[in-house]
Amino acid sequence: MKFALLILTVCSIFLTNIGTHAQTPKDFSAVWEKQHISDIFPSNVRHKDLQKYLEDLKKVGLKVEEVGKSYGNREIYQVEWGTGKTKILMWSQMHGDEPTATSALVDMFAFLQKNRDKDWVKKLGNALTIRAVPMLNPDGAELFSRRNLQSIDINRDARALETPEGRLLKKLRDDFSPDIGFNLHNQGSLTTVGNTPKQATISLLAVSGNAEGKSNDGHTRSKRICAVMIAALNQFIKGHIGRYDDSYNPRAFGDMISAWGTPVILIETGALYRKDEMFLVKLNFIAFLSALHSIAGGSEKKANPNVYDTLPFNDSGNLYNFIFRKANIINFAETTEPFTADISINVERRRAGENDSTFVQEIGDLSIYAGLEEFDVSDFYLIPKNGLLKVGASGEFLFYKKRRKIDWTDENLVEKFPPDAHFSNGKWIKGLK
Ligand SMILES: [Zn+2]
Repeated sequence: MKFALLILTVCSIFLTNIGTHAQTPKDFSAVWEKQHISDIFPSNVRHKDLQKYLEDLKKVGLKVEEVGKSYGNREIYQVEWGTGKTKILMWSQMHGDEPTATSALVDMFAFLQKNRDKDWVKKLGNALTIRAVPMLNPDGAELFSRRNLQSIDINRDARALETPEGRLLKKLRDDFSPDIGFNLHNQGSLTTVGNTPKQATISLLAVSGNAEGKSNDGHTRSKRICAVMIAALNQFIKGHIGRYDDSYNPRAFGDMISAWGTPVILIETGALYRKDEMFLVKLNFIAFLSALHSIAGGSEKKANPNVYDTLPFNDSGNLYNFIFRKANIINFAETTEPFTADISINVERRRAGENDSTFVQEIGDLSIYAGLEEFDVSDFYLIPKNGLLKVGASGEFLFYKKRRKIDWTDENLVEKFPPDAHFSNGKWIKGLK
C-alpha cells in the first residue's frame, strides 16, 4: 500500500512537471530550428519579403495591422498577440541596415500563435499583451541604410519628431502605454566584450532614461530581465555578451521612451565568427522568449540585477577582420625598398551574398590587437595591388616568396612574375603556401 502511494506520488509529481514544465533556452533553440518561418538572411529581407511573412502570420490567425507609412510611402505594420495585463512593445529595424530582430519577431509570433494551446504559451498569452513593429524603417531597409529616406537617423529624432517613422513610434507608445519596451538593433561585427578580442554577439542595455543614470523600479526590473536573457544566451555564446554604452542621449528613443514612462531594454546584435545571420536570428528568438516567459511567469523577480551590472562594457578598436603579421611591404609605386609592418583590414557591412568590400584599417605595430583571421606573412613580400599601401585603400594584396628574384619595376609584374598568393575582397584567390 505504502509502495503504491509512493508510486502515485512520484507519478503525480512527474505529471505536474510536464504540465508546468519550465521552458529552457535549449527548448527555445530546438523549437526555432524546427518551426522558424523566416527563410532568407535578414539582410536580404526587403519590405515585400516582410509583407510575405506578415501574410503568413495573418493566415495562422495573428492580428496584423497597417499602422502608418514611411516617408517613402511604404506601409509600416504592427503585430499583436496575447490578451494579458502586462503590456510589451517591441520595435525593430529603426535603422534600416540592422535587420536581425525583424526576422526573429516574425518567428516568435508564428511560434506563439501556432502553439497557443500549449499550457505555458496559453499562460504567456493570458499574462501579456505583446505588440511589435517589425521594420520601423522600411525605406532604410530597402536601401540597406541606417537612416530613413529623409536621411535622418530616426533614433536621433525622439524629441524633434521630424520623421513620420519617429512620430509613429511615439504615437504607438503613447496609445498603448506599455510596461516594458524592447528596442532592437544591430551593432558592428567587430564590437568586443571589454578589451578582449571576443566579439560581442549580443549586447544589452537596461535604459535608465535620465541624464543622471538614476535607477527606479522599472529600471531594476529591466536589469533583472537582462539577467534572464544573459543566463539563457550564456548556453550558446558564453563570453560573447556585452553591455551597451549607457550614456544618456535626449534625442534617442530608448532614453525618451523610458522617460515617457516605459522602461526600455536595448538589444544589440553583433556577429560571431563563422556563424551566419540565421544563427543570430535564433539567438534573438531565444532571448525574446526567455524574457517574455520570465515576465509572464514571474521568475524574473528572482533574477539578480547584478548579473547585468557586472557585464563588461562594449569596446571597439581591439579587433579587426584580418591581420597580416610582419609583412615585408614593397610599395613599388614609390620605392622598391621593403619595410616590415603589420597590416589590418576590415570588411564593410553589406547584405549577405554581396561582394565584400575591404579596406586597410591600420599599418604598423599591431601586436596588441587581434584579427578574426591572422596570417604570419614574414616569409613573403607583400605588394599592394593598386598602388601605394595606405590606410583606407582597398585591401588587395599580392604575395611573393622572399627567396624569389623579382624585378619590382617591371611594368608587367604580375604576368612576368606570377605571385605565390593573392588576397582580394577578404578572400584568398590563391592561398598562402
Ligand atoms: Zn541601431
